[in-house]
Parts: sequence; structure tokens; C-alpha cells
Amino acid sequence: MKAVRIHEFGGPEVLRYEDVPDPEPRRDQVLVRVKACALNHLDIWVRKGLPGVTLPHILGSDIAGEIVSVGEYVTGFTPGQRVLLAPMHFCNRCAKCVAGLQNQCREFTVLGNAVDGGYCELIAVPAVNVIPIPDSLEFDHAASLPLVFLTAWHMLVARAVIRLGQTVLVLGAGSGVGIAAIQIAKMFHARVITTAGDEKKLEKARTLGADYGINHYQQKISQEVRKITNKEGVDIVVEHVGVATWEESMKSLKPGGTIVTCGATTGPNVSFDLRFLFSRQLNLLGSYMGTMGELHDVLGHVFAGRLKPVVDRTFPLKGARAAHEYLEASQMFGKVVLNP
Ligand SMILES: [Zn+2]
Repeated sequence: MKAVRIHEFGGPEVLRYEDVPDPEPRRDQVLVRVKACALNHLDIWVRKGLPGVTLPHILGSDIAGEIVSVGEYVTGFTPGQRVLLAPMHFCNRCAKCVAGLQNQCREFTVLGNAVDGGYCELIAVPAVNVIPIPDSLEFDHAASLPLVFLTAWHMLVARAVIRLGQTVLVLGAGSGVGIAAIQIAKMFHARVITTAGDEKKLEKARTLGADYGINHYQQKISQEVRKITNKEGVDIVVEHVGVATWEESMKSLKPGGTIVTCGATTGPNVSFDLRFLFSRQLNLLGSYMGTMGELHDVLGHVFAGRLKPVVDRTFPLKGARAAHEYLEASQMFGKVVLNP
């Protein structure tokens, strides 16, 4: 099959479109023909070099496609079925996994991180990863869902325990997590404030339901939040930006408010005054992916039309390098998708 692999870590030029042997599925696996694979910022981190990645390596976490064949030990699936794949790898037998807490499994990793992913034509995965999709859902849209919608759902629903009518600040309206978090917060009838670097992105965020937009290049986030909330601050901040916004995120919280973070796109090292944390009784929560149960929950809302994936642009698989350059330029609103 054709695949895009990295043989060394580095810039977009290390992505190599080449022939590789077809995967040989185990008897407990399902072989899937990849029709669409959406990019994530994680792909860039892996390409630049993360521990635990063995070379050569196939990137790509978010996969949708068609079942080619079903292993002897697998029931409930048939060749030709349209599916998406849960973007994670876990042991499925430890105490955490059987309790449904797959993202706390010691073997947990994201598809395309410590295991090969979807920048290719065929992938073999355990049956537990395979989730049928409705005919009305295009492959490009299906591939845009799993990682960011699961991440945003786990952040808001499982970690921050969002309640009806709260005020939520979602950073990065045009990012995958931002697009998902705005819509999930609106499902909880939240008042949603979001940020972006230009007016066009803020306008698109409003069509997704955001109530207020802050241009983070022209306005100071915490000052605008104070104006919008009549000096109260927000209940929850959805963070994934990191060092560039952390101080503004903390200043935007009301007493007892919560920052939940799943990423550090602009850098991981932040500092803050502990007195500010304890005197205002703030909560700082980490969040990483989510559980299989949560993935099924959030996909149920997508399949019912309550949440919508947003695709910015597609590239052919062999254009993976151009797709990475486009992603790194941060001009998109929504997901960038590769089509093998
Ligand atoms: Zn496990």
C-alpha cells in the first residue's frame, strides 16, 4: 500500500510518500481501508520527535473508512461497512480499561503516536476501536470527529463537570478542540465567549453558537471577559494554547472557577502566583483524550445532528507535507483532512 512515513524527526520535509507492506491483521482485528485521515496538532509534535515513537512511523490519529475484512474472532462487523476508528490504543484488560477508564491505562496512547496511524491506505485495529457511522456522514466529516470531540467532551463534561447555564471561555475558536467545545458548551445552554486571531474566524464561531468573540491580537482577553461578564469572570476556561494565554486564562476566572487544559500549543512552561490560586479557590484540571464510553456518548450527539464537525480543507495523501505546512500556518477554521 501507499503510506506517508517519517524515517527521522524534523520539519514537514521528513514526511515521505512511499510503498510499504500491507498490514497483516490479527484474528481479533478488523482491516479498514482509510478514506479520510484528519490532522491534529499532535501530528506535528510526533513529526518533530516524541519519546516512544519508533521509526519509521506512520502518523495520523483520526481515521474514517470502509471495512475490508473482519478477523475470525470478531463478531458484529461486515466488510463494506462505513466506520470511524476510536483514536486510541489501550490494553483492554487492566483494571482501568475494564472499568471504562481507557485513558488511564498504562498502555494508553493515541493512534499515530506510539503506534502507527492513518496516513496510509489500510490499517488493522482491534474490533473495540471500530465504530459504525451513518450513511449521511461523509468520510471527511467522520474523520474530523473523534480526537477533538472526545477531548472537548472529556474536558467539559467529565473533568470540569459543566452545568446548565454556566459561562465558558473557549480559547482558539478555529481549532478542532475550540469548534467542538463551543458546540458542547452550547448544548448545556452555556454563555460562550471565544477567542480568535481574526474577525472571519470569530464570525464563523458565532455561527456555531458562540455568544461573544474576542480578537486576541487586538484585545486583552481577561479585560474583555470582565466587560462581557460585568466583572464576574467565567466558570470554566477551555485551555489548550499554553504559555501564550495561561495568565489571561487565570485572570478570566470567577472565584471558584476552573481551568481545564488538554494542550500547550504555544509552549508548556507557565508560572503563576500560588496566592492567586488559593485565595480565589481556583481549580486547575488536566485532561487527556477521554474514555470509550465518552466517545460513544459524544458521537451519539453528532449522529443526532446536535454537534457538527467542521472541515476546512482536504489534501491528497501524497500532499501530506503541504497539509502540515498549512496546519502550522494556523490559517484554518476546522479540520485539515488527508484523502488516501
Ligand atoms: Zn488497560
